[in-house]
Amino acid sequence: MYKYIFGPVPSRRLGMSLGVDMVPRKVCSLDCVYCEVGKTTKLTVDRKAYIPSQKIILELDHYFKHNPAPDFITFSGYGEPMLNSGIGELIDYLKVREPDLPLAVLTNGTLLADEKIHAEIIKADVVLPSLDAASVDAFQKINRPHKSLDIAQIINGIAAFRKVFLGKIWLEIFILPGYNNQEAELVALKDAILKIEPDLVQLNTLDRPGTMEDLKPATYEQLKAVIDFWKLPNVQIIAAAVTRKNQKAYRNDMSSAILETIARRPCTAQDLTQIMGLHINELNKYLSVLEAEDKISQVKQERGVFYKIKQT
Ligand code: SF4
Repeated sequence: MYKYIFGPVPSRRLGMSLGVDMVPRKVCSLDCVYCEVGKTTKLTVDRKAYIPSQKIILELDHYFKHNPAPDFITFSGYGEPMLNSGIGELIDYLKVREPDLPLAVLTNGTLLADEKIHAEIIKADVVLPSLDAASVDAFQKINRPHKSLDIAQIINGIAAFRKVFLGKIWLEIFILPGYNNQEAELVALKDAILKIEPDLVQLNTLDRPGTMEDLKPATYEQLKAVIDFWKLPNVQIIAAAVTRKNQKAYRNDMSSAILETIARRPCTAQDLTQIMGLHINELNKYLSVLEAEDKISQVKQERGVFYKIKQT
């Protein structure tokens, strides 16, 4: 079982993607109310080699030797990946080792306020910053940031990165009814989008357990209302995760692959059938064994029963 890489999993936005964890659970500069990974335990803006690049490179080398190449490599995982000061080194390594593999960086965008860091991810193919608020109040309420962070500087930083980055920028906005879909916040978010000029804006909402039990996902109509209000040309609602059609990135160590996947984000059985390319009956066998071994547990949510890893 790999410790720092996971998947490939069907990402909603990138298709089949091999994930790379850059920080341990749960090191982040934000503590978002909707976070699927859980509560931030180390709220920080300090950049360090939280996981040394060499350890990640060893796993990637092993993966490439024993598995077909995935469609995408994504820096993401248990927290904010750009907090790992080795991210530039890893991107450089992958661009030499697997020059044809596109690289994506999922980031909360907070560190892009520091323009010195822009050069480290400039060779990525797609950068997907999230931006859920443009006012101080909503930023505090949704993202519960590290005290040094300023939302205006973050927006300016993402806009400055846009000017130097030649790849694609897909801006994710997580809509939470009652938190950031009021008219004033939508106006402020629209101004931020116009300043950043992303290639695409992707609206997301809750579909897995977050850190707060009482959060409600936005309905399709509420997401559509945001699009109608903004009247911008490049906004989309993120479609459901792609179904695995191509078996080339199939993993043989299925129990490990299931554990690696739900350790990052709780999944329903339906999610797992798509991620693992397994029939539901086959998947249930693995889930029963993992439950009997006390490695996973279930939690009921609106979208169904989610499987979570049991913390040791
Ligand atoms: S959602 Fe992302 S940015 Fe927010 S706390 Fe979780 S890992 Fe950090």
